[in-house]
Amino acid sequence: MIEVRNLVKKYGDHIAVDHLSFQLEAGRIYGFLGPNGAGKSTTMNIMTGYLGATEGEVLINGHDILKEPEAAKRQIGYLPEIPPLYMDMTVREYLEFAAELKGIPAKKRKDEVTEIEKMVKIRDVEHRLIKNLSKGYRQRVGLAQAVMGFPEIMILDEPSVGLDPKQIIEIRELIRKLAKNHTVILSSHILAEVQEVCDYILIISKGRLVASDTPENLELMLGSRGGVEIETEASPSDIRLILKPVPGIESIEIQRDGEHPARVYIRTKQGEDIRERVFRAFAAAGIPLLTLKTSGTSLEDVFMELTQKESVPDALIRQTVKRKEAEEHAGSL
Ligand code: ADP
Ligand code: MG
Repeated sequence: MIEVRNLVKKYGDHIAVDHLSFQLEAGRIYGFLGPNGAGKSTTMNIMTGYLGATEGEVLINGHDILKEPEAAKRQIGYLPEIPPLYMDMTVREYLEFAAELKGIPAKKRKDEVTEIEKMVKIRDVEHRLIKNLSKGYRQRVGLAQAVMGFPEIMILDEPSVGLDPKQIIEIRELIRKLAKNHTVILSSHILAEVQEVCDYILIISKGRLVASDTPENLELMLGSRGGVEIETEASPSDIRLILKPVPGIESIEIQRDGEHPARVYIRTKQGEDIRERVFRAFAAAGIPLLTLKTSGTSLEDVFMELTQKESVPDALIRQTVKRKEAEEHAGSL
């Protein structure tokens, strides 16, 4: 199990990681999802002991990454954003060197390198210089280096960035294969990627954890946040009056910005389409609608909202936390 407690990383005045806490259990595939600059690489570098934190702790199966770095690092294989490859070595030379660094006994090294080369499908290029390999092959060599010694936990920073679609499919298959025997944590700025590969997603924005759940639950959460967005010149009190008798509405949020028309977010129950009812209500009141559209129903929308707006995350965090507490409560009964 991995425990990250109250992690903070400051670069001068800039807070790259802002009081991040989470626990990861063995045997799952976790995804760190967040836009560029969210703090994913910084967090991974701290978790793997490559970077010191300003505050907070990281425990790898109970071993503090700072106080017991050797015991903690032994459990981790890491593929950093830029894999530490030696361009003038052949694949085999490099991997045998990596095996030595990982403390694999000389007698076992050759066999283990061969086994891993087969596993990540680079046996056919083992005598080529790394500098002459394609990006896809280099990434696999980086992955081979991370797998060396078969650590329990694999941490992969944007493993498919810069790969072509065919290579991406291959890397994903490999990650799934790895996950059968390892806990895998990968980062990505692409929602579809973590959605497809991961059992559990942690959404990181501006160094903070803004949501964490299974892809299915995140989607459900979004689904239940479905609704309709309208724009109208009517006053907030008139808007409330007009919408009051309309069935299917859960809540209304009105934003009015100076002289601009009011923007109204109407939340509905999941799957309920109230556009026609809203249109008729306003028409009956003789007030024109300037726009009328459905809003916020895909995971992509939620992700965009969570990582761009300041106001929305709290509602979602509260929802995630509330659900978690309910689950824990149920679990403790
Ligand atoms: P991500 O991997 O999610 O794209 P990073 O962890 O690389 O994000 O970066 C998080 C933030 O920290 C960014 O704003 C980035 O500019 C800043 N940052 C990262 N490394 C350094 C550094 N060595 N010095 C100063 N700022 C840094
Ligand atoms: Mg990064």
